[in-house]
Amino acid sequence: MGPGVCFCAFMLPIDRQRSIDTNVTRMMSQAQVITNQIASTGYLDNQSVDFLNAELVALSNAYSGRVMVIDSTLKVVKDTYDIDDGKYVVWDNVVSAAKGQSASYHDKYSKCITVTIPILSLSKKENIDNDDTDVSSDNSGVIGVLLLTRSTEDIDQEFEFQRNLFGEMLIIAGMLAFAIALFFSNRYTHPFRLFKRRVHNLKENGKEGEWKKFYTEDGDISDEFDGYRERAVAMEDARQAFVSNVSHELKTPLASIKVLADSLNGSDGAPIEMYKEFMKDITLEIDRETNVINDLLSLVRMDRSGATLNIAQIHMNDMIEDLLRRLKPLAEKQGVELVLESFRPVLCEVDEVKFTLALMNLVENGIKYNHDGGYVHVTLNADKQYCFIRVEDSGIGIPEDSIGHVFERFYRVDKSHSREIGGTGLGLAIVADVISLHKGEIKVSSVLGEGSFFDIRLPLKYVAGGVNDEI
Ligand code: ADP
Repeated sequence: MGPGVCFCAFMLPIDRQRSIDTNVTRMMSQAQVITNQIASTGYLDNQSVDFLNAELVALSNAYSGRVMVIDSTLKVVKDTYDIDDGKYVVWDNVVSAAKGQSASYHDKYSKCITVTIPILSLSKKENIDNDDTDVSSDNSGVIGVLLLTRSTEDIDQEFEFQRNLFGEMLIIAGMLAFAIALFFSNRYTHPFRLFKRRVHNLKENGKEGEWKKFYTEDGDISDEFDGYRERAVAMEDARQAFVSNVSHELKTPLASIKVLADSLNGSDGAPIEMYKEFMKDITLEIDRETNVINDLLSLVRMDRSGATLNIAQIHMNDMIEDLLRRLKPLAEKQGVELVLESFRPVLCEVDEVKFTLALMNLVENGIKYNHDGGYVHVTLNADKQYCFIRVEDSGIGIPEDSIGHVFERFYRVDKSHSREIGGTGLGLAIVADVISLHKGEIKVSSVLGEGSFFDIRLPLKYVAGGVNDEI
């Protein structure tokens, strides 16, 4: 469309002007021939030169214009319109030609081209031919003027015709382009409309609906969408499993408490020892419920405040030493030895409260799932980029098929054993969340019956949103 409009607006007028210029040149050369004939036949003095009269009339007819022969006194000696014969004309262009200057003029309003050229005497013309003298500088040899007019209506009509033709072609080309664009846009957007319908069906009634891939792009979008949907479904499943786990974990101690309380209510006259024992069990169940609620709160806080870590540079050696000191009484009670081995002083950027909680859970597990006389060995090391912490124990170990699950919420290898020793199944989930918030990594390896290793790698400098390589 654009090039077509440019053509109509700029090229057509240029073409018209060129046609007018060509006509002017042709008129000039024809007029030149006739002025020679006028000079050689003495036509200015005697107009009874038949072939010249016929030629002038033929030229006038051919151009649908007028031919005038004017002598040096500016008197019209021949007018093919037979209007001004014998009259004197003092038009500017005629006067200029009488002074030796040829001229042409295109009048757009009266739609004609006028050419005026001087008629030179034969002697003057010979001089010019020989000497190449400029006639306009000297009018001594000018014996008359030939005036030629030509109608430009045929040129204008041709121009109009071309303009209309291009206009129509433009409209047709525009309509064609529009139809083609409509066809292709319809064709290319068809898969996306189908995709939208599929998403709509899924949203409204959970049904997949028909689906066919047409192009690479819609196939890619659909694959991405399927990936996202699978993730959303997995997240929803995990959420439901978590909710049912939470309600189960909260209900179990309550159910035990109710059974214990009902037994006490129904047993009139029971010995005081029985009351004391049942009350002890009730207290234990309340402690268990409190632990679960505290761990759940830690996890929820972690989920919500991931972006608001209270990062500070801490001495890892001091922090771990302090932590082991706090856990010493528990370790002694279990008959487990706690050892710290630091290879160098390590400064690391962490949220101290959250990171202490994570390490505490790991060391506590090492103590809980251990034998009398066992050990928990904590090693601290670092390179230029990372801090490495290993928590190693000589405990019961984790079965191979459970290793991939120990970081899941509420996962326990041995439910009853874990409950017995006060486990909630949330400790390692909290550890994993804390390490991931610090852009670190944790890996576990274990040999059943021999012990377990938990290896942590943590960037020394905390970078918000940073990505770390695999260990
Ligand atoms: P819990 O509160 O039950 O200890 P965790 O999330 O801390 O929950 O641990 C999940 C499960 O992984 C535990 O129930 C236990 O079976 C197993 N586990 C964790 N740490 C150790 C360890 N150091 N040695 C052996 N088993 C472990």
